[in-house]
Amino acid sequence: MNVSTKRIVIVGGGFAGLNLAKRMANHDQYQVIMVDRNNYHFFPPLLYQVSTAFIEASNISYPFRRMFQGKSNLSFYMGTLIKINPESNSIETDNGTLTYDYLVLAMGTETNYFGLDNVKQKALPMKTIDDALHLRNHVLLRLEEAVRSTDVREKERLGNVVIAGGGPTGVEIAGMLAEMGKNIVKKDYPTVRSGTGRIHLVDAGDTLLGPMSQKSQEEAYKVLKGLGVNIHLNTIVKDYLNDQVMLSTGEHINSATLIWATGVIAREAPGLPADVITRGRRILADEYNKVKGTENIFVIGDQCLQHTDAKFPDGHPQLAQVAIQQGKLLADNLLNIAAGRAMKAFKYNDKGSMAIIAKYKAVVDLPKGFFKGFFAWIVWLFIHIIPIAGFRNKGKLAFNWFWSFITNDPTLRLIIRPEKPK
Ligand SMILES: Cc1cc2nc3c(=O)[nH]c(=O)nc-3n(C[C@H](O)[C@H](O)[C@H](O)COP(=O)(O)OP(=O)(O)OC[C@H]3O[C@@H](n4cnc5c(N)ncnc54)[C@H](O)[C@@H]3O)c2cc1C
Repeated sequence: MNVSTKRIVIVGGGFAGLNLAKRMANHDQYQVIMVDRNNYHFFPPLLYQVSTAFIEASNISYPFRRMFQGKSNLSFYMGTLIKINPESNSIETDNGTLTYDYLVLAMGTETNYFGLDNVKQKALPMKTIDDALHLRNHVLLRLEEAVRSTDVREKERLGNVVIAGGGPTGVEIAGMLAEMGKNIVKKDYPTVRSGTGRIHLVDAGDTLLGPMSQKSQEEAYKVLKGLGVNIHLNTIVKDYLNDQVMLSTGEHINSATLIWATGVIAREAPGLPADVITRGRRILADEYNKVKGTENIFVIGDQCLQHTDAKFPDGHPQLAQVAIQQGKLLADNLLNIAAGRAMKAFKYNDKGSMAIIAKYKAVVDLPKGFFKGFFAWIVWLFIHIIPIAGFRNKGKLAFNWFWSFITNDPTLRLIIRPEKPK
């Protein structure tokens, strides 16, 4: 390696960090080290299908080292960021210290429980592959318990599922669980079917899919109602104690399962000046994603807050497309720095948003229109398969998916609890 080669350390290999790294491949003026707490990249929009035993975790995740094979200037370092030391251009991780010429923070967000300690203790989050597998085991274990139970109230506690958050994740998981109840529970757990378990979807707003168009909101409401989901709007979860979900309306729902699909907060980045940490812990950056007041630290994706894009003066939505576009632009800008060219300011190109509600039913909001139903579902499917890292995964995912939809009976309902043998 050339002595003038500069080192870029990227912390976080999600959409933002990975797109940056991939674009830097084979640009030998930089040595790029990707640091992540996991040894794989994963695709959060499909987590809910892992958690409902519809697809395998490996369908939506891919090892960094496999992706970096043959890319001489990219390497992977497994570790969790502990602290940034801007004065010595170094970071501390749980596995050691790394120095950098440029540091890029791309650690995304974590679940926000809004200070509700009981919820934090007992609710099931939906942010990581670990969360999704834990939720899958939890739901399957409750069904096994429900089979053994003879008490009506106990069966109700085990069968009821409460989902907090009526955004895309809450809607998608509600639809999937409702389909699971219809197609799978009656076959696998025939004695549970006669129980009184219901799916409750709770949202503080007066519609589902808050950020989407009115047509998408109405469609989601109609489809989920049709599937038997109990929708509680203008309602918040206040507490969760002794398997009772307490709602702001005063109602208590007897449920062993509270899925927390509401609220995120940016991951902590200790060591940065306090005045750059803003609302939701997002880090304030200029138009080039450079952290305010620093010279060589950048932030991209969900962790970043920019007020410099005229169409998004309050900051960008925390979405995959923003993260991808910021990652790619930062790669171009780091190459611009190396070549002595001017950097380009970030402007988000909003390509629309979509959500799947149930089998063959999705909604798509484009900047100039809306569509729904089977065609929307097909569009959703392709848009979600194409960006998944690794060619092998795309084929596998498409196959698993169509097979599961055709048979209504995927075979992934395995309760696997990795533990050291006693
Ligand atoms: C369930 C779910 C569904 C979603 N659905 C959609 C959707 O349909 N459409 C859409 O546009 N957006 C969706 N999003 C949002 C989208 O996933 C995020 O906007 C996007 O992932 C942000 O990318 P990022 O690179 O900033 O962060 P992330 O993708 O979250 O990546 C962060 C990375 O940092 C790593 N990391 C975290 N902390 C540390 C640490 N301390 N040290 C080292 N590494 C660390 C993580 O392991 C991870 O690899 C969804 C999110 C979730 C959770």
